[in-house]
Amino acid sequence: MTFVAMLLAWMVGTGAALAAETLMARREWGRPACPHCQTPYSWLQWSAVLSLLTGRRFCRACGKPGRWQRLAGELFLAVLWGFLVARYGVTGRTALALLAGIPLEMVLVTDLETRLIPNRIIVPAIAGLAVLGLFCGPTVPGLTSWAWWQSLAGGALGLGVFWVLASLGSFVWGEGALGYGDVKLAAYIGLAVGFPLIVETLVLTFIFGFVGALALIFSRKGSLHSFFPYAPFLVLSAAVTMLWGMEIVTWYFR
Ligand SMILES: [Zn+2]
Repeated sequence: MTFVAMLLAWMVGTGAALAAETLMARREWGRPACPHCQTPYSWLQWSAVLSLLTGRRFCRACGKPGRWQRLAGELFLAVLWGFLVARYGVTGRTALALLAGIPLEMVLVTDLETRLIPNRIIVPAIAGLAVLGLFCGPTVPGLTSWAWWQSLAGGALGLGVFWVLASLGSFVWGEGALGYGDVKLAAYIGLAVGFPLIVETLVLTFIFGFVGALALIFSRKGSLHSFFPYAPFLVLSAAVTMLWGMEIVTWYFR
C-alpha cells in the first residue's frame, strides 16, 4: 500500500509541480515547457525525478537544467503520502491529509524558486480547506475526535500569529522581512492541522527556523539578511504535525 501511495503521490506531485511552475511563469496552460526557452518538455522530462534518472535533466534546446525545486516538490509529496499511508492506512482522514499535502507541495516549489506564494495557489486552497474543515475536521489522520470549529480556529490562530509577526517584521526590518504570503500559508496550515495542533506546528516552525537561521549564519559567515524564508519551515512543520502531531503532544504532556 505504501508503495502504491508513493507511486500515486509521485504522479500527482509531478502534475502539481508542473502546475506550480506554469502558474509561477504566468504562462497559459498547455504542454509543460522549459521555463527558460519555452521549448516543450519531452514526456520523460515532465517528472523531475524521471528526468534525473534518465539523464534528461538539461533542456535539449537551451541546455539549462530543470528546476531542482520541482524535484524537491515531487520528493516531498511522495515521502509525505508514503509515511501517511504506512502509518495510518487508507482511511477517510488519511485521504484528507493526502489532499491537503498537494497545495503544500506547490507552495514549496514556488517559494523555493521565487520566495513568493502565488495567490492563485494559496487563495483557492484556503477557501477549499475552510469548507472541507467545517464538514470533515482537521486533516490529521491520528485525530480520534473533532469539533466543527477546530479547523477554522486553527486557521484563525495561524493567520493571527503570522500577521503579528509580519507587521512586527516590517516595523523592525522594513517591508518584506516576513511576506504576507507566509501569513496566508500559516492560515492554510492552521486550517489543515486545526486547533490546538496549530500551536505545535508554530512551535516546530520556530525551532526549525531557528536551526535553519543558525545554519545560514554560519554558512554565510555572519551575515544574515533581514529576509528569512519561513515558508519551507512552515511546510515541513505541517507535514511533521500531520504525521506525528498527536504523539508529540502526548509525549510532551506526559
Ligand atoms: Zn530550455
